[in-house]
Amino acid sequence: MKKGLLIILSGPSGVGKGTVRKYLIEHFGLTFYYSISMTTRAPRAGEEDGKDYFFVTPETFQRNIDQDNFLEWAEFVNNRYGTPRDIVESYREKGIDVLLEIETNGAKQVMAKCPDALSIFIVPPSLEELEARIRGRHTESEATIQKRMDKAREEMKLASNYSYVVANDDVARAAEEIRDIILRARGSF
Ligand code: 5GP
Repeated sequence: MKKGLLIILSGPSGVGKGTVRKYLIEHFGLTFYYSISMTTRAPRAGEEDGKDYFFVTPETFQRNIDQDNFLEWAEFVNNRYGTPRDIVESYREKGIDVLLEIETNGAKQVMAKCPDALSIFIVPPSLEELEARIRGRHTESEATIQKRMDKAREEMKLASNYSYVVANDDVARAAEEIRDIILRARGSF
């Protein structure tokens, strides 16, 4: 059986990775396993444990590092985020594509370990627009917003490391472009 694709969706925080992912499922009926990450970040209002993230203590996260349970992990604005490895592998072995929604340090680790991964970087129309989107979520303090914007400026410099760069000027358009990239990679286009 053909192994499932490993799809890396990266790009700065607030660029709309999650919105694009949901659009791919809801509007195009694309099927894949969305990898639920582990994080030490506190849940935002409306976020559910086991659905949005596995919310864990720093001790639990460290234990998972020590046991080598992550395909990749990274520190992002004072919190840690990681991709549990076994589940990703088991879906891929069953021929099911897996989508990772991760920041750039983690994406770099995955690209090094899995050179066959399909890497897609989403860029915002502008940094001003990105800041407006992060502020619009009303989930972060001013200091955290500034840190996320500093990080975004750094992450944007890494776009050329990815196989595809897609502008999220409009969710429907960006999702359509990403759908076509995935279908082409599957060889079903
Ligand atoms: P947020 O706190 O906004 O949910 O996530 C912060 C950043 O971490 C986002 O860019 C998000 O895509 C990224 N992220 C989420 N899960 C993971 C993960 O498992 N590994 C890495 N490296 N980044 C992640």
